[in-house]
Amino acid sequence: MSERTVEQMLEEWEPVIGLEVHVQLGTKSKAFSPSAVEFGARPNSLTDPLVLGMPGTLPTFNKGALELALKLGVATGSQIRAKSRFARKHYFYPDLPKGYQISQYDEPLCEDGHIDLILGGALKRVKLQRIHLEEDAGKNMHVGAISHVDLNRAGVPLVEVVTAPELGSAEEAAEFMRALHRLVRWLDISEADMEKGQMRCDANVSIRRVGEDRLGTRTELKNINSFRFVQNAVEHEIARQIRILEGGGHIVQETRLWDAQAGTSATMRTKEEANDYRYFPDPDLPPLVVDGPMMGSILRSLPELPAARFARYLREHGLSPDDARTIISDRALAEYFEATVKAHPGSTSGRTLANWMLTELLGALNADGKDIGDSPVPPATLSELVRMVEDGTISGKIGKEVFEETYRTSEAPRAIVERRGVQQISDEAALWEIVDKVVTQNPKQAEGYAAGKDGLFGFFVGQVMKATQGRANPVITSDLLHKRLGR
Ligand code: ADP
Ligand code: MG
Repeated sequence: MSERTVEQMLEEWEPVIGLEVHVQLGTKSKAFSPSAVEFGARPNSLTDPLVLGMPGTLPTFNKGALELALKLGVATGSQIRAKSRFARKHYFYPDLPKGYQISQYDEPLCEDGHIDLILGGALKRVKLQRIHLEEDAGKNMHVGAISHVDLNRAGVPLVEVVTAPELGSAEEAAEFMRALHRLVRWLDISEADMEKGQMRCDANVSIRRVGEDRLGTRTELKNINSFRFVQNAVEHEIARQIRILEGGGHIVQETRLWDAQAGTSATMRTKEEANDYRYFPDPDLPPLVVDGPMMGSILRSLPELPAARFARYLREHGLSPDDARTIISDRALAEYFEATVKAHPGSTSGRTLANWMLTELLGALNADGKDIGDSPVPPATLSELVRMVEDGTISGKIGKEVFEETYRTSEAPRAIVERRGVQQISDEAALWEIVDKVVTQNPKQAEGYAAGKDGLFGFFVGQVMKATQGRANPVITSDLLHKRLGR
């Protein structure tokens, strides 16, 4: 075996990753039955005869779930099937009383869409093979020697989003999860709280020699429920496969379980042990029909998407990719930014506005444990403050103080500035008097500066600022000082 690092080996091996991501749809009731969807309710308090798999019950599909799935389909540019079909996926497990899960198989709702990731400040488009609807299973809980089954989650509507095998690294896989998370939250499809299991993924990983067209044998890592775990699990799996192949072994197609605590994975089942799900069309459910009016209303309701907005912020406002990315990380934050820009007409100061919003406003909100939705400073007020800094009424430094006061008291920035008399002094005659006095009162330093001690210039600026309580316009002050000091 060689002593090379994984980084060195990656010059010869190309990782290929495809993700299957489950996202819970934020409906009030379950996919095929009337019981409520609610996280943290008393175990088995949210069941009904359908969820329990009672004979003689008939499912009816929740139209709300269809609308949410369609939103995602349209937002990802997918082909939408006018008539798709539900299928039964059979397996036996205590958290699935019916003995089958209702899913979609050969005729999914959406195909051939895409999602744009933000990678290194640019967008990368990742193809989706399909998005289909299905129901969740319940949950088994193991307490010592006893196992409990909670069926509250059984029947909750999900979409499964399946990417093409074209993610090229663990980082890209994690970025895909972030992009999908952002998108479903942006569209109000799901809260996608990963800690509550509302979004989770299976990662398929293979490697091949750089330049090789054929895909290598893949393994599948099951049920990963955080961005960091996706990254760690995939990274670990890539290294494991490289070591096996470089050591002359071969990869076995299998399902593995990631142990986040130990930072390793272990075989769960091999291909031979794989379930045969015996899919067939569910005879209890009619075809799922998407008609023109429904598509029309979904299309009309679609907002500008986060990736498009990211690109627009770079293009129109010259924001840095980091700032643009932070702003679009949350729809409410992005809407706040939009409103601030709107309140600031005819200006090219998107960058400045973003700066004040991200540094001052978010800083203050974070310190208070608050969200942008609780901001005591409305967009127009932030714009008013930034305007005063831009037109030279106040200095940036005073602006920060005024911001703090506005944030605390909700008093308008202009009123604070007038009451406190902190307007910037830009009047040359007035400043000249102060500059002249400061230089006259400090003859030694003036001599020193004249003799070449450049560092003393800062001393004079400081004295002028002190004499004006920081209100002197720094650019004019510097000009006048040079004039008065003779160089
Ligand atoms: P299954 O439904 O049995 O899990 P699919 O063939 O539908 O298998 O693929 C599921 C996921 O696995 C998709 O995201 C796909 O991109 C990915 N995938 C398929 N083959 C490979 C491979 N050789 N390497 C990496 N990912 C793969
Ligand atoms: Mg799979």
